[in-house]
Amino acid sequence: MIEITKTNIEKAINKARQTKPFVKVIEFRRYSVTNKITGATYEVKFTKINNTKYAECNCKATVICYHIGASIGAHIVLAEQLTATA
Ligand SMILES: [Zn+2]
Repeated sequence: MIEITKTNIEKAINKARQTKPFVKVIEFRRYSVTNKITGATYEVKFTKINNTKYAECNCKATVICYHIGASIGAHIVLAEQLTATA
């Protein structure tokens, strides 16, 4: 589990913009991210503990990777929708 910071998530989002992977929602906070070129699929999970956000991905990266960068957009939209309906 890696802590999400403004700096590391910005980098990951930028990389995701270049790679444009396909993001599928498995359930709230769980996403499946597929690289359209290689077909490799990884699973990203988001966790929130005491207002600190963490993410993890089952790819080889040990940093906030672009899979996390790609999923966070979908995650923010979903989280806002849930807050709005709650
Ligand atoms: Zn990854």
